[in-house]
Amino acid sequence: AITNHMPTAELQALDSAHHMHPFTTGDELTAKGARVITRANGVYLTDSEGVEILDGMAGLWCVNIGYGRDELAEVAARQMRELPYYNTFFQTTHVPAIALANKIAELAPGDLNHVFFASGGSEANDTNIRMVRTYWAAKGKPDKNILISRHNAYHGSSIGSGSLGGMSGMHAQGGLPIPDIHHINQPDWWAEGGDMTPEEFGLARARELEQAILDLGEDRVAAFIAEPVQGAGGVIVAPDSYWPEIQRICDKYEILLIVDEVICGFGRTGNWFGSQTLNIRPDIMTIAKGLSSGYQPIGGSVVSDEVAKTIDGLEFNHGYTYSGHPVASAVALENLRILEEEGIVDRVREETAPYLAEKWHGLADHPLVGETQIVGMMASLALTPDKASRAKFASDAGTVGLICRERCFANNLIMRHVGDRMVISPPLVLSLAEVDVLIERARRALDECHAQLKEQGLMKAAS
Ligand code: PLP
Repeated sequence: AITNHMPTAELQALDSAHHMHPFTTGDELTAKGARVITRANGVYLTDSEGVEILDGMAGLWCVNIGYGRDELAEVAARQMRELPYYNTFFQTTHVPAIALANKIAELAPGDLNHVFFASGGSEANDTNIRMVRTYWAAKGKPDKNILISRHNAYHGSSIGSGSLGGMSGMHAQGGLPIPDIHHINQPDWWAEGGDMTPEEFGLARARELEQAILDLGEDRVAAFIAEPVQGAGGVIVAPDSYWPEIQRICDKYEILLIVDEVICGFGRTGNWFGSQTLNIRPDIMTIAKGLSSGYQPIGGSVVSDEVAKTIDGLEFNHGYTYSGHPVASAVALENLRILEEEGIVDRVREETAPYLAEKWHGLADHPLVGETQIVGMMASLALTPDKASRAKFASDAGTVGLICRERCFANNLIMRHVGDRMVISPPLVLSLAEVDVLIERARRALDECHAQLKEQGLMKAAS
C-alpha cells in the first residue's frame, strides 16, 4: 500500500507516474518532485520530511477556520452513517440541504435568499451563465444573453466558467471562450494605471463597462460578473472610485450584477461577504471555498428574490448529482456555526486584519517591493526593480515571482506568485503571533530573493 510512511522520493515517483496535476507542467514536476503534504493543524502544514510550513494561502484560499477541527470530521461521520447521499432533483430534499440554504439566506446581504447548490465555484458559475440567460429569456428577452467579465479574472476551470474568466493562458487551450462572453479591462492601477491617479483610473476602468454595454446594445447584455477583489489574478484591489461606478452602470442599464464571492466570502474580507466590505449590491453571488473551509467540496449560487421568482416559474433544466450533497452540506453548516459562534469574522475585522495590514504595508520599505495591497485577510505585493517608476522586470513575467515563491518555500512559508506579484490569503484563525512569523519569513524570503536577483543580474527593468 502507498502510505505516509514511504520515503518522499518514492511517493514523488508514484505521484508523477499516475497523477496529473492542475495548472502544472508535468515534466517539470517529475524532474523536481512535488512537495508531499501529510498532515495539517491550525495554520501549519507538515510535509513528508516532517517540516512544518506556515500556510499563507489557507490551502487554495479556502481553509478559513484552519486545519484540524474535529467537529467537522464528526459531523461528516455522523451524516455519512445517517444519510450519506441523496439527491435534490425533482421533488426530494433532505435536512442538511434545507438547513444550509436557510443559514446562507440568513447570512447573505439584501434579498439574496435562495441557493442553488454545486460542488464548487466553477460549477456554480456555470449555473450562473445558464441562470441569467434563462432569466432574461423568461422575461421575454432571449437576446439579452451576453455576460461581461474582466481580463485576468478567475471564475473557474470548466468550459463555461473558464470562458467567463479572463485568463489568457486558459483561453489559449481547449476552444474557449464560448460565444457571447465579453471582457473589459481590470482595475489594476499599479500595472496599467499610467499617469492617472488611482481614482481617475478606477472611474475609467468602470466606464469601460458602460462603453461595452453601449457598443453591444443594452438589450443584449444580461449580466456583469466580477470578484470584489480579484484573487487568482493577483489580489488586485480596485481604486475606491471603481465599485460605486460599476453599481451605477448596472442599475442604469438593468444589467444583473454577479459578484463572485468564492474567495471573498465567509470572512475573508472582514465581513461575511466582500460585497458588504465594498458596498456592492449583487443580484447573484457565487460561493464556494470558505463555505466549508475546504473540508468538503461545495459551492453555490445565491440569488435574489426577483431572480428566484422568475426562475421558479419554469423548469430550470440544470443540476448536479451532488447539488446540496448531504455530507458536504452538513460540514458546511458546522463550519458556519464555528465561524459565527467563535466570532472569527468579527475578530478578523477588528483585530487580525488591521494588525496584518500594518505589518504587510511595513514590507513596502523593502527594495524589491512596490505597492502593497490588503483587504481583510487577502494581500499582495508587487515585486519591482524600481518602485518610483512602477517598473516591470526585463525577465519574462513570473520569473522573479517564482524565485520569490521558492525562497518562501525554503523559509517554510507558503506564498503564491501571480506573475511577479506575491499573494497571501492565510486561514482567518491566524493569531497575532503567527502574523509576526508570517511577516518575518516573508521578509527573509524577500531578502534572499533580492540577493539572488542581484547575483543573477535580474534586477534590470524592462525598457
Ligand atoms: N471563482 C473564484 C473567484 C475563484 O477564485 C475560484 C477558484 O479559485 C473559482 C471561482 C472556481 O472555484 P472551484 O475551483 O471550486 O471550481
